[in-house]
Amino acid sequence: MRQPTERLLADDAGLNRAAHLLQQDALVAFPTETVYGLGADARNGTAVAAIYEAKGRPSFNPLIVHVADISAAQSYVEWGPMPQALADAFWPGPLSLVLPLRAEHGLSSLVTAGLPTVALRVPAHPAAHALLSKFGGPVAAPSANPSGRISPTTADHVMAGLSGRIAAVLDDGPCTVGLESTIVGFDAGQAVLLRAGGVSSEEIAAVLGHSLAQPAATNITAPGQMSSHYAPRGSVRLNAITPHKGEHHLGFGAVQAELSLSRTGDLAEAAANLFEYLHRLDALGGPIAVAPIPHHGLGIAINDRLARAAAPRD
Ligand code: AMP
Ligand code: MG
Repeated sequence: MRQPTERLLADDAGLNRAAHLLQQDALVAFPTETVYGLGADARNGTAVAAIYEAKGRPSFNPLIVHVADISAAQSYVEWGPMPQALADAFWPGPLSLVLPLRAEHGLSSLVTAGLPTVALRVPAHPAAHALLSKFGGPVAAPSANPSGRISPTTADHVMAGLSGRIAAVLDDGPCTVGLESTIVGFDAGQAVLLRAGGVSSEEIAAVLGHSLAQPAATNITAPGQMSSHYAPRGSVRLNAITPHKGEHHLGFGAVQAELSLSRTGDLAEAAANLFEYLHRLDALGGPIAVAPIPHHGLGIAINDRLARAAAPRD
């Protein structure tokens, strides 16, 4: 959808406007100490789907959720002594922590790409922090560039790539780190380095008193191919107009079923529902059949995810 992109200053009026737009489920690019992020309310699946649409990203991978402070982070995940120590040492700052979701977390399943964990970060940039405080909710934000292009470190970069595709950019000059956040997860009580970034593993090891475990080799391939990606337990059959006996059918548009990704054939609505509905059908047990999804716009990322879910398992 074409729309004029507002350029906002990081003063009180600009921050209020940016927070208001996020509340309206619009997309707002904002500076962090790493790069400019493309933000949306992480609780709203349609807003998160719009991130993928604006970036033209051909696959869904879990997004980092930005929050204002530790107590906001704690409301979404199972917290513990290790995340506390790391948050005390490096938040606000370029460190993302991957932690198990709490029940009733309220985040969109598109943000986590259906995983039972979420990556959280408290950014240090004053404008990012002010925006998160004013908005008062969790903001999903990958880098604010079209898919496949270089990450933006100025508002001009954001405008060059996304003008007309997002509601606003909050301009507060160049980013300082220009490096992605370090991502740390936890596995069986051990901290694991999932991605190197702005905080070094030596600094993290110094805080924890032991060095970080390396992720399993299968975890460090390209995003979207991580073995941690969600896949239903039951088999998945694609392009199914009618279900076979025993299959749970997921509909779309004219292909009606017990559950439909979007009865009106809206791809953003379908993207927002995708992981949640796959989980629901999978919980019933047995094979899943999915209606054809048009292969354009967000349909490309939806089909990418469905093709992975349907691929033979090891
Ligand atoms: P970015 O592109 O900087 O927004 O970082 C997103 C990356 O964070 C993803 O591609 C994943 O590699 C990682 N990530 C986010 N959430 C999770 C998660 N729940 N589990 C594992 N990795 C995650
Ligand atoms: Mg990026």
